[in-house]
Amino acid sequence: MEYVFNLPEAVPAGKVLVHNHVRPTSRLGFAGFRAWLDDPGENYEICDCGWASKLSEHYRVARARQRFGLSR
Ligand SMILES: [Zn+2]
Repeated sequence: MEYVFNLPEAVPAGKVLVHNHVRPTSRLGFAGFRAWLDDPGENYEICDCGWASKLSEHYRVARARQRFGLSR
């Protein structure tokens, strides 16, 4: 997992761009908004908030999975 401080030109193959559930701001790292590159995982869900619109897609942390953790 690797934080990004500038929006990448493209997401590396096999990775997904994810942000936390803080309302996206135009500036990464501002007001608690964080984004990172990570391996795809079931705790991430595709996000349509409009941030990073020049990239084809990005993900956010899935709230339900985060709340219930790994216990099933
Ligand atoms: Zn988003």
